[in-house]
Amino acid sequence: MTVVTTATLVGSDIRDQPLQFVKGVGPRMAEVFAKLELHTVGDFFNYIPRSYQDRRQISPIVRLESGEQVLCFGAVRSASLEKAKKTHIFKAIIQDASGSLVAIWFNQPYLKKVITPGKQIIINGKLQFNAYSGERQLTVIDWELYDPVTDQGLSLGIVVPIYGLTQGLYQNKVRKIARGIVSDLLPRIEDPLPEGLRDAWNLAPLAESLRQLHFPESREAYKAARRRVAFDEFFYLQLALLLKRREQKVLPKAIRMQAEGPMLQQFIDVLPFKLTGAQARVISEIKADMASSEVMNRLVQGDVGSGKTEVAVAAMAVAVQSGCQTVLMAPTEILAEQHHYKVRRYLNSLEIPCYFLAGKLTVKQKQAVRQAIETGAPCVVVGTHALIQEPVRFERLGLVVVDEQHRFGVQQRNELQKKGYYPDMLMLTATPIPRSLSLTLYGDLDKSIMDEYPPGRQPIETYRLTPGRKREAYEFARLHLRAGERIYVVFPLVETSPKLELQAATQSAQHIQTQIFPEFKVGLLHGRMKPDEKTAVMESFRRGDIQVLVATTVIEVGVDVPEATVIIIEHAERFGLSQLHQLRGRVGRGTQKGYCLLIGEPKGDESRRRLQALVQCRDGFKIAEADLQIRGPGDFFGVRQSGLPDFKVADLIRDEKILIEAKKRAQECLQTPRTLAPTLEHELYRRMKEFLGGTRLN
Ligand code: ADP
Ligand code: MG
Repeated sequence: MTVVTTATLVGSDIRDQPLQFVKGVGPRMAEVFAKLELHTVGDFFNYIPRSYQDRRQISPIVRLESGEQVLCFGAVRSASLEKAKKTHIFKAIIQDASGSLVAIWFNQPYLKKVITPGKQIIINGKLQFNAYSGERQLTVIDWELYDPVTDQGLSLGIVVPIYGLTQGLYQNKVRKIARGIVSDLLPRIEDPLPEGLRDAWNLAPLAESLRQLHFPESREAYKAARRRVAFDEFFYLQLALLLKRREQKVLPKAIRMQAEGPMLQQFIDVLPFKLTGAQARVISEIKADMASSEVMNRLVQGDVGSGKTEVAVAAMAVAVQSGCQTVLMAPTEILAEQHHYKVRRYLNSLEIPCYFLAGKLTVKQKQAVRQAIETGAPCVVVGTHALIQEPVRFERLGLVVVDEQHRFGVQQRNELQKKGYYPDMLMLTATPIPRSLSLTLYGDLDKSIMDEYPPGRQPIETYRLTPGRKREAYEFARLHLRAGERIYVVFPLVETSPKLELQAATQSAQHIQTQIFPEFKVGLLHGRMKPDEKTAVMESFRRGDIQVLVATTVIEVGVDVPEATVIIIEHAERFGLSQLHQLRGRVGRGTQKGYCLLIGEPKGDESRRRLQALVQCRDGFKIAEADLQIRGPGDFFGVRQSGLPDFKVADLIRDEKILIEAKKRAQECLQTPRTLAPTLEHELYRRMKEFLGGTRLN
């Protein structure tokens, strides 16, 4: 392998230089850094410390306060290793000119060889006064040895960066490398943002900002630096989103739809109820999109039970009356089947063919559906991922509807769209998307909000019960069963093994059947059942042959049985907030009042707060905000599929102001096609290449 010298790098971007050739790194260390996805100098610039320790002034030992977390600097006077029962206790007396204290480490006997008398040490720990021994004891959180000869002012007298580490890395070593990179290499990067814009937008220079993030010199400088780097993270994403959106807007739509026509009207006429105001409004928004010459990309956001399915069917009727084929994709077979059942019922009287396509069909059945689709005759196809996976060729695909959109990734959405020639896209979601996410991840979509429930819907009452009061929950449910209503009992998935999980679910169902509700029929629904078995159970529950449905989270999305009024959720503390809200939405879907009983023993403060939030709050948006805050965007939408870039500094919730500003600036930049500075354009492609795909700037 040839060593890249600085000379060969002239003209190229310093950020692309492999970390391995940086002073103090080398091949072995480079491998360790690679474990943290740090491969180049540029990666290291963005290796932002996870926290900082202010060591500008360290108090003399005598002045450190007991009961607090403190920073202590001194020399090791003596050290000893003791063993009490099975615990190794390593104690060292640390001393400075003012006094001394005892530092304590547990179960690290090897420290005896490392922390030896005479060495200087910096310790971060919790200081306590031990009344029994009369000593001040420091329980160590983290520590490092200090060598006045080699340290180069990197450990004391400054705000010290604390980096996220992995095995084989140590803070002081990383700090040294960081100092080298920050002082030698960082000044060589160009700021893609021209000075004029920087001044106008009140942003600090890039190199200076990154320097401050690694080695902050003051609170103000750090804040300005953070603002700059967070701004960039949002700004380029916004540019990319705007470009994508602009491209979509000019896409030639193959088929322009007829918004007004007989089928939509007939569908509205066969509905057994009047559309809500929100439904009517959203349908007209969709109609306008479909009739226009631009491709529709619309997200309908509406809480569980707001009646999104009817809106989707209306859109499909528009597609069919325009001579198109249309698909509705759902995340699970149960849901797809339920939609198929409902859609077919609505559309049969309009004489629109309606097919079902899912993995569980036989080869022959699939083939029949495929053949029907390939004729190009107008039709509706309801299905699961199979719609993407099967080699189906749509001759005239005009509209794609994706239900419970958050369950699918951006990728799958695109796959499906590719099955047609730029068909209209309609996405439905019951997971309300907090503002910050809708400004980022969903920035490329138009939005419709369903902020109204069908009439007669009563709020679901939610209660939290300790496991000791489980009996009461079941007795309450019994009253409702006797009145002819239906109930759900939900258990969390046990993560041990599929086999154990199955066993646990089966046992629970048996217990409930024999010990709790012998007079009613109990059914079981779980993820490991065959699709046909699931369908059969759901069907019996819908008909009322089964009155109690014991289930794992397979019923979480969209399942619609209006007679179900009570949902009992066992071990509620193990569910996520949005998940609980979704589950709760399974009841109270008819005219009868719904009840949600959360049985659980919250383990910590957080899970208690989570359950409390659910009891007090009915607003799906507020719940989603809280959930996003607790779990972060990755988990919120299911890790990889969110499609969000990995922000190093920016925080979607804390930095909403910066986000809004970045969006505004990005819009300004793209107002006329050629206003984007070449350096910005270059940086945009550098950062957002994957995200942009084939999108072009001009
Ligand atoms: P979502 O998918 O938004 O959770 P659904 O479309 O499943 O909600 O609708 C919930 C229930 O409300 C269904 O039983 C549906 O038939 C019913 N529904 C929908 N719209 C209306 C309406 N305008 N009036 C009365 N009931 C409605
Ligand atoms: Mg739905």
